[in-house]
Amino acid sequence: MKRHKSSSKRGEDRIRVCVRKRPVMKREVKASDKDIVDAESTTTLTVNEPKVAVDLKPYLLQHEFRFDEVFDENCTNDDVYVRATRPLISCLFEGGSATCFAYGQTGAGKTHTMMGNKDTPGLYLLAANDIFSLIQSGKYGRGLHVWVSFFEIYCGQLFDLLNKRNRLHPREDGSHRVCIAGLTETEAVDSNVLVEVLEYGNSVRSKGATGVNPDSSRSHAILQMEIRDDNDHRNGRISFIDLAGSERAADVTDTDKQTRLEGAEINQSLLALKECIRSIDQDSRHTPFRQSKLTHILKDSFVGNSKTCMIANISPTQTACENTLNTLRYADR
Ligand code: ADP
Ligand code: MG
Repeated sequence: MKRHKSSSKRGEDRIRVCVRKRPVMKREVKASDKDIVDAESTTTLTVNEPKVAVDLKPYLLQHEFRFDEVFDENCTNDDVYVRATRPLISCLFEGGSATCFAYGQTGAGKTHTMMGNKDTPGLYLLAANDIFSLIQSGKYGRGLHVWVSFFEIYCGQLFDLLNKRNRLHPREDGSHRVCIAGLTETEAVDSNVLVEVLEYGNSVRSKGATGVNPDSSRSHAILQMEIRDDNDHRNGRISFIDLAGSERAADVTDTDKQTRLEGAEINQSLLALKECIRSIDQDSRHTPFRQSKLTHILKDSFVGNSKTCMIANISPTQTACENTLNTLRYADR
């Protein structure tokens, strides 16, 4: 048995790494695809990889992993929110940067986790509801407001999802803070406004059929909610990143030039992200956030008062085994 350990004390309160296994879908049951992932406890899981020995006897190679949180197929978005994301919320009322990533192959459940649907709202809305109640309670003072922005990174370029996919450029100001010039920001007075913003942004994002927009698995979508006071001074911020499909990072040898280019960009940004997260985990002084647009615009998430959670989403099926192991190894620290 191969054993992978993933426990570190140092960065533990700044970064938490979680894994979410999605249920087997109806079409997978129909295709007799097997569930090979056993989420046996709230912190451990095993992948049973089917193998064939030299004497042609089939056997299972078991890969065991340990994470800060493991969510099995019965866990709801609410469960994920409470255990993985809620612990970040106080940080954004204390001037900090909270960040939540959804990582994984296309179809593993990233958007289900982040966005959810009408019946099961995802982390965006669950966090917003908590933020609105905290503001209303007055626990962190009066006159606080929530400002929302929604944009995507495709091939190393930023596009505003709240303004016709207008191209944007990040800049560092005099105090080395990274800002995105011209980014549309909307005040969300309640969660209904956020729902509208998300619907609008998603409709802009998914108009891929026109040939102008990339398929959403090839871009990173970023939703930010910032707390500001009556004088428009920024307090804290939470960023949610629905990452590009991790399997796209392997497209670097594709025959199509555009696909290859996209794959190379995705590969670079996911590697940079991994290195930045590792440097938080090890309390390292040097964080290589300049290595990609994604990590550069999230600079605040890696330095200073910040809290991060990574949710690695995995498919349970045998067909997805290789991608699942890649995701778990990526998330493994
Ligand atoms: P990704 O964004 O990673 O490509 P999606 O979130 O779109 O994947 O999920 C793929 C499909 O699986 C969708 O139809 C989604 O509704 C479904 N799905 C994903 N996770 C879950 C879950 N935990 N429970 C029920 N359905 C899920
Ligand atoms: Mg998606």
